[in-house]
Formats: sequence, C-alpha cells, structure tokens
Amino acid sequence: MLIDQHVAHERILFDKYRKCETERSIESQNLLLPETIDLSPAQSEAFSLIEDDLESLGFGTMRLSGRTIAIKSIPTDLPPSEARNLFSEILDTIEAEKKGGAKSTFRDDIAASLACKAAVKINMKLTPEKMRWMIDRLLITTSPTTCPHGRPVILRLSMKDIERGFHRT
Ligand SMILES: [Zn+2]
Repeated sequence: MLIDQHVAHERILFDKYRKCETERSIESQNLLLPETIDLSPAQSEAFSLIEDDLESLGFGTMRLSGRTIAIKSIPTDLPPSEARNLFSEILDTIEAEKKGGAKSTFRDDIAASLACKAAVKINMKLTPEKMRWMIDRLLITTSPTTCPHGRPVILRLSMKDIERGFHRT
C-alpha cells in the first residue's frame, strides 16, 4: 500500500477542523502584524456569507472600511505566510459556489482549503515517528481512503499489479 502523505494529512486535519468547529474548540494564533486584504466586490459579498464560519474555524477578522478587511488571527496549524493566499482561495471558492450552496457545504469548503494549506507537502521528508503518527491518525478518521476533495489517499498494489509492471505475466 502506498499512502500520499499530503492528502493523508489533509484528511486528518479536515476531520479535526470539522470536529473542533462543532465543539467550538479551535485554537488560534495572533498574527504579529494583521494582514490587510482589499477584496473585490464579489469576494466581499462572499466574505459576508462566511464571516461566522471563518470565526468558528479559528480566524479573527475585522472589516476596516469598504471592502478592506484585516486578518488578526489564524488557526494554529496554519503557517502565517499562507494566510493571505488561503483567504483569497476560500473567498473565490465560496463565490463560485454561492448559488445554491448550503451552509454546511461552505464549511466543508473552508475546512478543506484550510486543511490543504496546513498539511505537510508531498516532498517533505518525514521521520519514521511522524509517518507512524500519520498512519495511526489516518485510520481513525471518518474516511481514511479519500481526501476532503474526493481524491484517493491510499493506493493498493497487488502482487499481480507488480508482476504485470515487470511484464512477468
Ligand atoms: Zn491539498
């Protein structure tokens, strides 16, 4: 079995965020310098829709004037350097989905984007301990075989597949 470490971590974080959100127990960190972002009209509309959801996922935001907002705090797992990109990604996703989108879908979208940005990258070297931690945690998630976007996390290779690859059958 081959496990994709990025999507495995994504699944673990996604489940954690959804759970913490329900229990209102997300930890957040204050940014040294608040990030200010100028939103487009569409992004600003999307922001109004999900302001509460962002808050329950650990984002502290403030509207400054017009379409400018400040991000004051972010969830602890998220590298601060990713905050700005993540924000525009989330707002663009919500903007594209807002027609007919349900509240719970929005929350899943936000949690999925957040999990993606906070997860280890595919080329990051992991220690054996971290790998074991990841596999143990993955197996107790709601869906260990698929990531929040629906991609496979685990690839099974049978002996047959391997033999076929070497043209032995
Ligand atoms: Zn991802």
